[in-house]
Amino acid sequence: MTRTVVVTGGGTGIGRAVAAAMAADGDDVVVTGRRQAVLDRVAAELGVRAVCCDAADPAQAEALAATLERVDVLVNNAGGNTDFDRDAPGADLKALAENWRANLDANLLSAVLTTAALDGKLADGGAIVHIGSIAADKGAGAYGAAKAALASWNIDLARTLGPRGITSNVVAPGYIASTEFFRDFLTDQRRDSLIAATNTGRAGTPEDIAATVRFLASPGARQITGQVVAVNGGEWPTR
Ligand code: NDP
Repeated sequence: MTRTVVVTGGGTGIGRAVAAAMAADGDDVVVTGRRQAVLDRVAAELGVRAVCCDAADPAQAEALAATLERVDVLVNNAGGNTDFDRDAPGADLKALAENWRANLDANLLSAVLTTAALDGKLADGGAIVHIGSIAADKGAGAYGAAKAALASWNIDLARTLGPRGITSNVVAPGYIASTEFFRDFLTDQRRDSLIAATNTGRAGTPEDIAATVRFLASPGARQITGQVVAVNGGEWPTR
């Protein structure tokens, strides 16, 4: 039977690579995101379905669920970092609060709300994969805290869904090149130091992450649940 796979934030970067890998396997893939034009392009390029949806908005998450009959694999990939620099103690409190709320919305609530909205549609024996981050172990401000909370919640979710044969795991990337994620932040020096911290001497690619997501959603991974799988070239979080 053809599986239905939902990839939040599937229009770009890692999500797009996941959507491409699953579509190539013959899955019926649905990508979501907030930019219709980006989704239209990826739908045409990959032959997938697209639904414009802000994953952090409860009403839009419910509207997404209403378009789907059944979901075999959910990839909670939507996320991003609103601003590394506004986390510092001493920052304007209003800006600090906005930054924390935005990071929690983008990286934690997006996954919680999408999962809750689709819960009634999740097929027994299915799989959920969340995209976390090495930042969860680095103390990386609001973003890292949101990804750490995602990993904690994943343990609960795996326990709750276990009796239905549904697995829940986090894939935690290290530095991944060629996505929109770092576009506004990354200096050449910072990029070089992230690569130097790996054993492999290279940045990860969206396809590295997609390969792990694909495995965790496959029959061979049915006994893996409640885990965080690091895909980071052996980078040890720097403190
Ligand atoms: P991108 O910015 O390319 O991808 C993020 C995607 O999420 C975009 O397509 C964006 O589309 C979508 N998105 C963001 N917020 C929402 C929302 N509220 N609802 C729906 N879609 C949303 O970067 P990456 O591919 O790198 O990031 C994918 C995931 O990987 C993120 O969770 C990120 O935190 C994580 N990650 C990335 C790393 C890296 O080095 N790149 C390292 C570790 C983790 P739109 O704006 O149109 O909604």
